[in-house]
Amino acid sequence: MKRNCPQCLSSHLNHVRNGFFLRTHSSTPPIQRYRCKLCRKEFSDATFQLRYRQRLRSINGSVEKLLVTGTSLRKIAFTLNINRKTAERKFHYLSNKADLELHRHLKQKENIMEVQMDDMESFEHTKMKPLSITLAVIKHQRFILGARVSRMPAKGLLAKRSVKKYGKRADGRKSARNDLLKSLQENISSTATFETDEHPHYGQSIKEFFPHAQHVQHKGRRGCVVGQGELKAGGFDPLFSLNHTCAMLRYQISRLVRKTWVTTKKPENLQRHINIYINYHNKKLIAA
Ligand SMILES: [Zn+2]
Repeated sequence: MKRNCPQCLSSHLNHVRNGFFLRTHSSTPPIQRYRCKLCRKEFSDATFQLRYRQRLRSINGSVEKLLVTGTSLRKIAFTLNINRKTAERKFHYLSNKADLELHRHLKQKENIMEVQMDDMESFEHTKMKPLSITLAVIKHQRFILGARVSRMPAKGLLAKRSVKKYGKRADGRKSARNDLLKSLQENISSTATFETDEHPHYGQSIKEFFPHAQHVQHKGRRGCVVGQGELKAGGFDPLFSLNHTCAMLRYQISRLVRKTWVTTKKPENLQRHINIYINYHNKKLIAA
């Protein structure tokens, strides 16, 4: 691929080939080096890769697989015999890669007609600091269009205690919902059908970004024991595509498993973990 010089940004016409190098620990083909005639700096094909300057490239795939099959970062470090900080670094690299790939994947999706949306709940560090995960999937296909993690105030019995201990907690659900819908404006048809549960807040957001779309609401139902609340007990579930996907997230992302020792400490890292899962899910787990 023809690239500009990373130093002075001059066009590829100013580059000359400047030998190549081989990787010591892998059998990849030789990597071309270049020199820029204007700024005299050297660079190579590897300079532009997301994994530039990484050692231990060979474990990237294993870390990804473990991350999407319910393994925590510490357990990954233990299993692969790497440092915990290395596992963390790989996690960040994989989430960047997932963002790029999901973006590329979405570019091929146009005129989507049937979308299901819902929020699932988790928490950061303690149940008194709940998080909401807004999720949109294509009906039947179970292709995940995107997810947004946001903070929300505690509900029910914990509400008072939460305010007392941690102060008032902002509600970011609306902006998360709007952000997700806005990002999908090019993919979802303007006359699409949105299916959600009965919560009244979806209608407004959908109207704002898809004024001609149809909005169908289904009655909420009690969850069954498997699927950890997301799969519904008995009978036909109109939101099955979505609920099944949520149940998969619960099972496969260590920080979302219920009754677990693993919790998320930072909402942005939950978002990263979910993005890694979404990318893997869309690539490998569903028939595209
Ligand atoms: Zn240059």
